[in-house]
Parts: sequence; structure tokens; C-alpha cells
Amino acid sequence: MRQLQRRSLLQASAALGMMGGLGLTPSAFAQAKVKPGAKSALIVVDVQNCFIDGGTLPVKGGADVVPVINKLAGAFENIVVTQDWHTAGHASFASTYAGKKPFETTKLKYGNQVLWPDHCVQGSDDAALHKDLKLPTAQVIIRKGFHKDVDSYSAFEEADRKTPTGLAGYLKQRGINTVYVTGLATDFCVAWTAMDARKLGFQVYVIEDATRAIDLNGSLAAAWKQMSAKGVKRIQSSDIA
Ligand SMILES: [Zn+2]
Repeated sequence: MRQLQRRSLLQASAALGMMGGLGLTPSAFAQAKVKPGAKSALIVVDVQNCFIDGGTLPVKGGADVVPVINKLAGAFENIVVTQDWHTAGHASFASTYAGKKPFETTKLKYGNQVLWPDHCVQGSDDAALHKDLKLPTAQVIIRKGFHKDVDSYSAFEEADRKTPTGLAGYLKQRGINTVYVTGLATDFCVAWTAMDARKLGFQVYVIEDATRAIDLNGSLAAAWKQMSAKGVKRIQSSDIA
């Protein structure tokens, strides 16, 4: 309902030529329907127990993306799933450092690192995909963040910004040039995945209602701004034909 109201407002304001005056950007405006084809892939980022209520690093409303993604899956020939997949004592865990608390930051060799509660430890139930996620046609699962000293928000490249996960090679060898990114969390793993995909030459859509955010100190607004600047298109699941 809220979305419908927002749409009507956007359409009305466009009709009145008031978009600039309202501070609305064209990317926020309802898009024409897009139809994913053989060269498109749906990327489902980290829809794991750890990021859903009851998990170790729950994203508010995380479970809400599951039915949206299940439905979207029917529109895609190619589906990639990712899993955050950390060692115990991982460099991204606050518990690894004396005196550090979750959501503080620290400086690692490759730059600033947000410190998280222990989450998504390899092989744990916490790291398993959410039980209601139904993606029987998914073709590959990319696990990331498995190097103990390096985090990996992005499904394409680890946080040292030089170690590839192999996903770009996989997609390119299969002739895929467009990706639609969904999952958790919008402002971290989804955003980094989307921006890296742009950098690697893919056309990129983020399906907003198929994501939920952590929104730490304004990180969600910042992520959308950065994504938009890099040419990531922001759409809703209803925009998919
Ligand atoms: Zn992680």
C-alpha cells in the first residue's frame, strides 16, 4: 500500500513537472517493465539464518525478502546464490579483538572494517540458507568471507579489493551481461555486490523490495547514493515482467 501511494505521488509530481522541486531523482521514478532474458542472472545475496530474526546478525524484516525472491525466481533462467561463510575467529568479528564491541570499527591491512557479532560460521545452522527460500533452479552457490583475515561483502571481490571470488568469470563464461541483485543486507553485501558488478561491466539492477538493510549510521542512504552514482538501477519486483 505504501508503495502504491509513493508511486501515485511520484507519477503525480512528474505530471506537474515538480520532480526537481520535491528533490526526487529520476531513478526513484517508476521504471518501464524489464524482462530478464538468457543473458540475465538473479543474484540472491546471503539469505541465511544469521541475517534473519533468531540469527546472530538479524537484519530488520530480513524474512520478508524470502517470498519476494521465491516469486522472482520464476522469471529467471539463471540464479546465483551467495552465502556469507566465515571461519571461527574471523577478522570481521568483534570478539576477535580484545576490548572491541560489535558495530565498532577497526583498521585492518586493507582498510576500515566494521566489526560484527560472530555470524555465519562455516557449517553452522546459522550459516544455512533460510529454510523457506525455494530456489530449485539455482545453479551455483558462491561462498564468501572464508579467508580468515579478509571479509567479503561483495559476491565478486573480497574486501582487500584484489581477491576475486570467481563469480565474474562464471557469469562471463556463461554469456551473462546483466544481473539483478536481491537479498541481505541492502547497504552492505547487496550494495557492494551491485557496485562491483558495475565495475566489472555488467548491467545492474537492485530490486529494492527484495532487500532489507542494516542501516548503521545512515549507511542505507549512503549506499543508494553510491550505487546510483555508479549506474546501478533501482527497481521493484513489480517492475519485472
Ligand atoms: Zn559476514
